[in-house]
Amino acid sequence: MFSRGGDEPFFLPLQFQVPLPYWIVVDSVPNIYHLVELKDTFHRYVVLITTRESARILEINVGSVTRQLWTQRPELRKRIGREWTKMHYQKHARGRSRGFIKEMIKILNKLMSETGYTHLILAGHPSITSEIKDNFPKQLLSKLIDLVPLSGTEETSDIVKATISRFIREEEKESQDTAELLSQEMHTGGLAVAGAENCLKVLKENRADTLVILKTNFSSRGWSCSDCGFTDFDKQSPSICPTCKGLALRKFDIKEEMVRLAEHIGANIEFVSKSEALKRLGGFGCLLRYRLPEEYA
Ligand SMILES: [Zn+2]
Repeated sequence: MFSRGGDEPFFLPLQFQVPLPYWIVVDSVPNIYHLVELKDTFHRYVVLITTRESARILEINVGSVTRQLWTQRPELRKRIGREWTKMHYQKHARGRSRGFIKEMIKILNKLMSETGYTHLILAGHPSITSEIKDNFPKQLLSKLIDLVPLSGTEETSDIVKATISRFIREEEKESQDTAELLSQEMHTGGLAVAGAENCLKVLKENRADTLVILKTNFSSRGWSCSDCGFTDFDKQSPSICPTCKGLALRKFDIKEEMVRLAEHIGANIEFVSKSEALKRLGGFGCLLRYRLPEEYA
């Protein structure tokens, strides 16, 4: 819940289907660390859940189904025995099923590319999900996380339960890969910086492409001068700024400040649960978009 009094009052309650820690902060800026972590861990994926006769495409965002994107339930079965013999039905169903799969893939492909979704899970009977996968074009295969066996008729809440752990595992793997990349770039003099001070600097300069944070970082505080921008860490904040003698000094939580700056400039943020490499780099790192001329030296 975000709340503010004064001349421009503000009140925003938000509800999620996944747990958040109990946490109260009073500050001059919104405290968004846990929300951003939640976004990285649970941010949206698409599930195509299907049987041979029906299909649904769901968007799952922060642990709940936010949108049913598409649904198809032909009235095929009702016609059995009324107009057709069983054999006729089976022959027709097989041909129809192939057409149905093609149609599903076409719709899914259009949807995924137009809306920028990057993660997809296929759910249903293994025989049909593997058949769908075999017919996937390259661009869908690259977004596919996993096949999950389900009957295809489950309630949406059960579909979330059955698929979310696969998504979280994939998300953590991607975060690990980013931490690896960061470590490589650091050791080869590539486009990266590490440590709280350097990261805050490149975030302020709008040069960070991706901020990588170790989740287990201890919360530590820094302070900065609102007049000249002088920043210092892990020290008692003085009463006046040592560089400009200004009085407008602000204390901040380092993790919170970094996440806020990263969101502000639209940088990617990856939270990593465990990484020895990232730990050695001080628990914070940034992949950069470009280097400053003096840094080439
Ligand atoms: Zn100052």
